[in-house]
Parts: sequence; structure tokens; C-alpha cells
Amino acid sequence: MPPTFKLYDTMTRTVKPLETVEPGHLRFYCCGPTVYSHAHIGNFRTFVNADLVVRVAQALGWRVTYVSNITDVGHLTQDDAADAGGEDKMARALASKDGERFNSVWELAEHYEQGFRNDWNRLNLREPEVRPRATQHMREQILAVEELISQGRAYETPTGVYFSVDSFEDYGKLSGNRSRDDLKVAVREVVQDDNKRNPADFALWKKDDKHLMQWHSPWGWGFPGWHLECSCMARAYLGDTIDLHAGGEDLVFPHHECEIAQSESLTGKSFSNHWMHVRFLQVDGEKMAKSAGNFYTLRELVDVRGFDPLAVRYALLATPYGKPLNFTLTNLEAAERHVRRARSAAQRVSEALGKPFHQVEPGPTRWDRVYDEALEALCDDLNTSVALARFLEAIKDLTKEESWTPEEAVEAARLLRRFEDLLGLIGGERTSEEAAEPTEDAAWIEQKINERAEAKKAKNFARADAIRAELDAAGIELRDSPSGTEWVRRPQA
Ligand code: AMP
Ligand code: ZN
Repeated sequence: MPPTFKLYDTMTRTVKPLETVEPGHLRFYCCGPTVYSHAHIGNFRTFVNADLVVRVAQALGWRVTYVSNITDVGHLTQDDAADAGGEDKMARALASKDGERFNSVWELAEHYEQGFRNDWNRLNLREPEVRPRATQHMREQILAVEELISQGRAYETPTGVYFSVDSFEDYGKLSGNRSRDDLKVAVREVVQDDNKRNPADFALWKKDDKHLMQWHSPWGWGFPGWHLECSCMARAYLGDTIDLHAGGEDLVFPHHECEIAQSESLTGKSFSNHWMHVRFLQVDGEKMAKSAGNFYTLRELVDVRGFDPLAVRYALLATPYGKPLNFTLTNLEAAERHVRRARSAAQRVSEALGKPFHQVEPGPTRWDRVYDEALEALCDDLNTSVALARFLEAIKDLTKEESWTPEEAVEAARLLRRFEDLLGLIGGERTSEEAAEPTEDAAWIEQKINERAEAKKAKNFARADAIRAELDAAGIELRDSPSGTEWVRRPQA
């Protein structure tokens, strides 16, 4: 009997079995990044745990339809308020020093989306079936606003179209922000518009004919509110009711609360049957966040400090997702030792086998108990502490063997393959190849360094200085030496 997959559900505040509407088919939506800069590894704590859900479901033999979006419009800076104010994060990034190298906000979005995908691959995350962009689903969003207006749950004012939270009785059921006082606290920085019926009402559409990304709508030029995109994209790819919805803990309120209000009003059905929220990755007891300046990016840890990307994956999984995790370089160093040990055990097995261990189909082995216990632990609300301990136990066992007969090598490879499918900590052929490839950012930097060298050769020192300044603005420092020019990324924290 396979174990029952149980997860904490934010809505019911209990650990309960993850049930699927269609037996054996998980429809899963995880809110993706806003591509205004490089994601930090706090963001990836959320995605690595979402990845684990996918892997556990697959290990149980389920089919998984996994959708994780790209937010490329509408996410404003004061996003802890339901009806956020402030600037669009994308527009602000373009206006910043770093944004100077992009011709348009579209180019900036593309650049950081590409960077995000590189990081995603290097962390050995399973590719979602669909990775939709908010800007490519404008039609669905406009139709949804029209439908909500016709239901009498949304109304137009001079600044936009707002969702009336009083029209949705269940508003607050996920976060527990139900009483008027709670909501007042939660919405302290809302958009000031005297025409709003209730200050807690949040924007579905913002009128703005000066915005860098704007669309024509029945309410004039403007752009959608951030919450709307996920309601529309989840429905487009996964149907009216999804099995599981995930994100970081900050999304419980307002983002997911607002998604529920919109989606359940539109369909009259339950939006998601299970809600998973990943606790923050912290630095010195504080949330790792761009705004706090206390963050690490994967490229800094890997390209500048030389860590193995899968050590970062390991470190992000070492504490179960429901507990806060304090990130330190010391923990990362320990994680790297574990990952190295696993890699070298895998290499020895592959050598004895005469081909990469991935090429062996997973199958029963004499170590099934260790694997089964790891899977059981993950089915128990993703208990990664136990699962990783079992993984290390298996690696230790393999390391003890001095030599392998061909049959033993096949059995060891099967075990590694099963653990790799479940935890993704050794790295497949895909990951090792891609890890060796320069990132798109690195390629751009190398190209600039070559151009600078050419300019110097041609005695065009103004051009050479301009290139150095351009790199400097992007956080890259150059160090010239007799053997050539090296670059380092300035630490961002
Ligand atoms: P954003 O790019 O800000 O939209 O965030 C992308 C995802 O990362 C969301 O699910 C956030 O909740 C999550 N997130 C942001 N900061 C952290 C953190 N420090 N630890 C874990 N998850 C985070
Ligand atoms: Zn979302």
C-alpha cells in the first residue's frame, strides 16, 4: 500500500490527505515570480518545496499538471495591502540604475524571466506543464472583470474597477481576516479613492494611460490588478476547481484571499481544495527580501562564491517548509559536503555500470526500506528532515562498498535513480550539462569584456570606460591583470 500523501492545509488549519478531484491526477498551481529582478533564494525556497510536491505525487504514480506563472505586469510595491498602492515593480525596475541597460520594460521582463529559468534548471526543478505569463492572458482578465461587474460584485470608479468585498460573504476565510477591525489593519495602505464603497475593496483593473504596459479595455487604457491574473490562468489551464494551490506565506493575505473571492464569484465553485504556504527563508531572523537588502541570489552563490547549485537545493530543503529556515553560509557548506558525497558515490556506481546511473530504470532493491521511509516521511507533510536523513543513510551504505559486481551496480543504480527522482539532489545529465554552460548573464558580461578589450586596442578609451561603467551599473566589477580581465559580481546583501 503506498502511503497517503498528507499536507497542512492553510484553509482548514489541519494536516489532511491531498485529495484530487480526478483520481490519480493532481492539478497544481503555484504562484510564480515577478520578473523585475533576479529571484532570490528565499523565492526558491517556495519553488523547491512546490517541486517536491510534484516529485512525491509522481513517486506515488500520479499524473501531475503543474502550472506556475510569470508575473510581468501589475504587481505593485505595497503588496501587503489588498488594494495595493505604490509603483508597478516592473516600471520602477526600468527606471532604476540597473534598468538603464534595457530598451523597454518588455526587454527587462524577458531578461529576468530567462535568468529565472536558468536558476530553475540549475536547482533541478521539474519543468511545469505550463508557465503562463500575465501579459499573455489579458483577454481572460478583461472578460473576468466584465463578468464580475455584471454579477454586481465589481464596480467602476474614476481610478479603476474594484471588487466589492462585501459582496463575497466568505472574504477572509483563508487568512482569518474576517472582522472589520482585522480587515482595516490588513488594508492600511490601500489606494485612496473616495468613490470606493469600502476601503478594503481591491482593484481588478487600474486605469492608467501613462503606464508602460497598458491595454485597451471597456474602462479605457490600463492594466489588471495583480490578484486577477492567477484566478484567470489557474482556471484557463486547470479548470474551475484545482486540487492544490501554493505560494510563500506572504501570499495568504491579500493575494490568495483575493484570488478566492474572484474565482469563487466567477465559477460558483470552490477554487482550490488544498492550500499550501511555505514559511519564509530568513537571514538573521528577518525575512529574506529584496526590500530589506539581505538576500542572496543563486548566481551570486554559484557564479561568484562557487557553490554547487544542488547544495543550495539541499540547504533549502533541510528544514521542513512549515518552519522558518535561517539561511547561513555555514549550513550551505555542510549541504555541499552531503551533495558532493552523493555525487561521488553516484559516479562510482556509474563507472561500475559502464553508463550513467540515470539510464537504469528505477526498480526494487535491497535498500527499499530506506527509500520507502524517505517517501513516507515526505508524504507526512513533506518531512524533509527525515527524508534527507534516509537519503544520506543510503549514500553512506553505497560509499562503504569497495567494488561492485555488474549486478550489484545495477541494483545500486536503481536505488540512486529512485532517490534522484524523489529528491533531485544528485543531478541528472540535463543538470550537469546546463550547470557547465555559462548563464545568459555571464555570456553578456563576457561579450562586454571582449568589446572593452577591442576598444582599448583601438585606443578608444572613452568607449572602454563607458563599458566598464555599464558593467559597474549592473553590479559587475572588473579586475584587470596581465593575464586578462576577470569579473566579479558585487555581493548584493
Ligand atoms: P514574488 O517574486 O515577490 O512575487 O515572489 C515569488 C514567490 O516567492 C512567492 O510565492 C512568495 O511568497 C515567495 N517568497 C518571497 N520571499 C520569500 C522568502 N523569504 N522565503 C520563502 N518564500 C518567499
Ligand atoms: Zn498568484
